[in-house]
Amino acid sequence: MAIEENEFDFESRIVGTESVPSDYEVENSLRPKTLDDYTGQEKAKENLKIYIEAAKARHEALDHVLLWGPPGLGKTTLAGIIANELGVNLRTTSGPAIEKQGDLAAILTNLAEGDVLFIDEIHRLSRAVEEILYPAMEDYALDIIIGKGPSARSIRLPIPRFTLIGATTRAGQLTTPLRDRFGVLLKLELYTPEELSLIVRRSADILGIGIDERGALEIASRSRGTPRIANRLLKRIRDFAIVKGDGTITEEIAKYGLERLEIDKLGLDNTDRKMLTAIIKFYGGGPVGLDTLAATIGEEAITIEDVYEPYLLQLGFLSRTPRGRCVTPLAYAHLGIPYTGTANTQPSLFE
Ligand code: ADP
Repeated sequence: MAIEENEFDFESRIVGTESVPSDYEVENSLRPKTLDDYTGQEKAKENLKIYIEAAKARHEALDHVLLWGPPGLGKTTLAGIIANELGVNLRTTSGPAIEKQGDLAAILTNLAEGDVLFIDEIHRLSRAVEEILYPAMEDYALDIIIGKGPSARSIRLPIPRFTLIGATTRAGQLTTPLRDRFGVLLKLELYTPEELSLIVRRSADILGIGIDERGALEIASRSRGTPRIANRLLKRIRDFAIVKGDGTITEEIAKYGLERLEIDKLGLDNTDRKMLTAIIKFYGGGPVGLDTLAATIGEEAITIEDVYEPYLLQLGFLSRTPRGRCVTPLAYAHLGIPYTGTANTQPSLFE
């Protein structure tokens, strides 16, 4: 029943939301440096502007900020912007990179007053490391145990007042004590095609790529609401413009290129189509449990949840029910498969 693994080539997936090494250099050059340059996320931006101004006026560190949302929506970028707007240093690390309590203690004691510490994938911090973070966030202090056994004692070391920015794709996996210590919680949403089109045109400007309005909108509307994908598609479509056109990305060139990359009108690629088709073919459209689905397509459950599902759920192609995932009639129509009407697509009250 399992589908051959190489059918799902997740690593090289052009519409994957995870960043891959070939993105790094270009991503850094495309990252906006100010809030005004950061397109979309209006609600988050408005609130941030006020908090940043207030912190500056009070000459205090900004309250700790938790950013959450699917990969590629601009969490790292926003952390850089916050540090920049505050005029302080940014120190970047990630949950899995901090293995021992001592690693985090060393980072914290090396911060300067007011600095921003960005911890990506903060839900992956170990419990032991997290415990160091509590007094650091709350009282700007480190509790150090000296000695062992009955003579052990704890001393409290002050650390500079700093701002922690945590980023996570899954806020639900944060422990309550950690989540409660963030004063500002900002959820990033998928972008609209119009917002993405502005991002594409700004990126094209920086990279010196010619593109017209309709070409930008065509790329934007197939980028799954995600700036990382929009930028990646822009780079790939540029090659088609050079070889097949006069170097400028027009609607026609964009359509041609996206078709060649097998990305359909809604931004779905072969992987999405195969996943949806697998649920229809092997499980009658669902419900199918996440772990069973993961095993069927040879992918980790966590990747399906973080990377593939958000967009399919937003499109209304997939629904989560108490008994598993279901493909909706909308998706059947998009795939050109007659809907048999057996799928239970009632959403769960508990998710
Ligand atoms: P995340 O940390 O959420 O995975 P990143 O901050 O690394 O996402 O963003 C991925 C890419 O998308 C970066 O190259 C960045 O320049 C671009 N990007 C993200 N959000 C925006 C935005 N609001 N405006 C312009 N570019 C953006």
